[in-house]
Amino acid sequence: MTGTVIQSTGSFYEVQTPSGEIYICRIKGKFRLEDKKQTNPIAVGDFVDFDGAEGEGNIHTIQKRRNYIIRSAPNKKEYKHIIASNIDQCVIIASIAQPRTSHGFIDRILLTAYVYDIPAAVVFNKHDLIHKEKEDQLLKELMFTYNTIDITSFSTSVTKNENTDRLKSLLQNKISLICGHSGVGKSSLVNCIAPDLNLKVGEISKYTEKGLHTTTFAHMYALPFGGSIIDTPGIKEFGLLDVEPQELGHYFPEIRSRMHNCKFNDCLHINETGCAVLDALENGEIAPSRYTSYLTFYAELKANKKY
Ligand code: GDP
Ligand code: ZN
Repeated sequence: MTGTVIQSTGSFYEVQTPSGEIYICRIKGKFRLEDKKQTNPIAVGDFVDFDGAEGEGNIHTIQKRRNYIIRSAPNKKEYKHIIASNIDQCVIIASIAQPRTSHGFIDRILLTAYVYDIPAAVVFNKHDLIHKEKEDQLLKELMFTYNTIDITSFSTSVTKNENTDRLKSLLQNKISLICGHSGVGKSSLVNCIAPDLNLKVGEISKYTEKGLHTTTFAHMYALPFGGSIIDTPGIKEFGLLDVEPQELGHYFPEIRSRMHNCKFNDCLHINETGCAVLDALENGEIAPSRYTSYLTFYAELKANKKY
């Protein structure tokens, strides 16, 4: 039999067959990890072959992955954990107010998506909670910044039912990895466009970070209008991938498209003369928030290399 892994707890896997039946599977014998520094042999989204009967089964083969997205634990960088495989896009849900998502958080996920060549989108939820001029300005700036680098970005509101159709079209017939902090309204948005899924909506005040993040696993849900989403409640932050610091600019499209105009071939776009990236930053063609993320990630990657 064949099926898709829709949930993985590390010790057993929920596998769904094309006709919709669910089997609780284990791994048969000892599965060899391709990469010794990978923590999970099977991830949500994997297509697997298994022997199954009466709702239970043994997985014996993983079909070749079209792609995957990996997280490296912030404190255990040498270990890689596959978050999900065979995905069409990464959809980041953010909010400007209650809670405020930092641009660094968004850019970190975008970087990972770029490295794996997975399209991404940034949705700013809770638009109804924006009352201050400054917050409204920030929202507009961020959406403009992402749209400029060809990342779909728009605002939504569950309470005002704003742009939820747009989100539905974005997700329709695609396999989407949904990322974002607790409390930004991921479950509420999904419930709004697919009420039958009935995801649990949490009260922000109850989010005591820890407890919530350690007990949950990524889960794939089929959408009634076609496509599926992979909810990643356990993922708070992506660690930076193993990118060479001097290659970082390749994964920032606004830097990549300009670096060939830098005077020096090995320009790091930090303080060099004749740097096309710094010129573009000065002219307002590159968003300061994106450039700040570039500098932050560069410093972080550089520091990692010292060990
Ligand atoms: P998740 O942790 O990202 O899945 O967030 P939830 O869907 O659990 O939502 C967290 C809280 O924000 C809940 O109290 C929701 O009712 C509330 N919420 C979600 N979306 C919106 C929105 O667009 N506007 C407002 N005002 N509140 C929202
Ligand atoms: Zn440069």
